[in-house]
Amino acid sequence: MPELPEVEVVRRGIEPYLSGATLHNVEVHHERVARRFAGTADDLARQLEGQTVTTVERRGKYLWATLGEDTRSILFHLGMSGQILVDENHLPQRAHTRLHAQIGADTFLSFVDQRTFGYVTIDNLVPTVSTLDPTIVRFVPSLAAHIAPDLLEPAFDLEEVARTIRSRRVPIKTALLNQEIVSGIGNIYADEALWQARVHAARLASGLSYATIREILQAAQEVMQRALNVGGTSFDNLYVNAAGEPGYFARSLAAYGKAGTPCPRCQSLLERCVVGGRSHTYCPNCQKVPRRNR
Ligand SMILES: [Zn+2]
Repeated sequence: MPELPEVEVVRRGIEPYLSGATLHNVEVHHERVARRFAGTADDLARQLEGQTVTTVERRGKYLWATLGEDTRSILFHLGMSGQILVDENHLPQRAHTRLHAQIGADTFLSFVDQRTFGYVTIDNLVPTVSTLDPTIVRFVPSLAAHIAPDLLEPAFDLEEVARTIRSRRVPIKTALLNQEIVSGIGNIYADEALWQARVHAARLASGLSYATIREILQAAQEVMQRALNVGGTSFDNLYVNAAGEPGYFARSLAAYGKAGTPCPRCQSLLERCVVGGRSHTYCPNCQKVPRRNR
């Protein structure tokens, strides 16, 4: 599933084409992709026809293009396997194309989603106020208004988020995956951040020091930034992929999906367990299992 860096790679890829573009010949091919829209797939296509995009933005895993007077947006959620692709040629539409639109003389936007867990809709923008600074107001789609700022936003309030995490009597990994506390962290970056900060996922968030929680959040920021830098190099201008394909980021990952291989720090073999219903890969030497879990 794409997490923050993968969605940001997509955003950066489509932004130069979509900013200022007007949508024409819009087709929406599957009712399921329009399931969050109050109308049919055809209604969605009609309402998108002739709309002009101003900016392309992201919070966590939500990606949107603001429309016209900045009160509405086209909201994309990539789900498990969604891709947004830009072609600079008339090509036959790809298999599993759910939305197709002309965005320039010879430029086309496709939302491709084999499993159709993702969706596209038109959504109103609503103001959200930063806890860091009440003068920072950001307009986000109403469907994304319940999620917290992500780790790479200027409005991300590290101290406030650390306080919220420490107030929860849940495993630290469960708190990190809670999009209402901090958005954009999924299984991959949670495991990487915990490995880097040497904290086992099952440790109770309320039992950790502020310094440790800060360290975990900073590790998540750092690993996401690193992934973003690597992901950005794998795409050319014509083919914009939702990154995070298995095997690609795998090279820069230390822990996620690497059970049975040596810890890059101490060479102990990484192990796997389940915390809060999610798989967790950790180093038994660097990330001590909490006593109550032994
Ligand atoms: Zn280790």
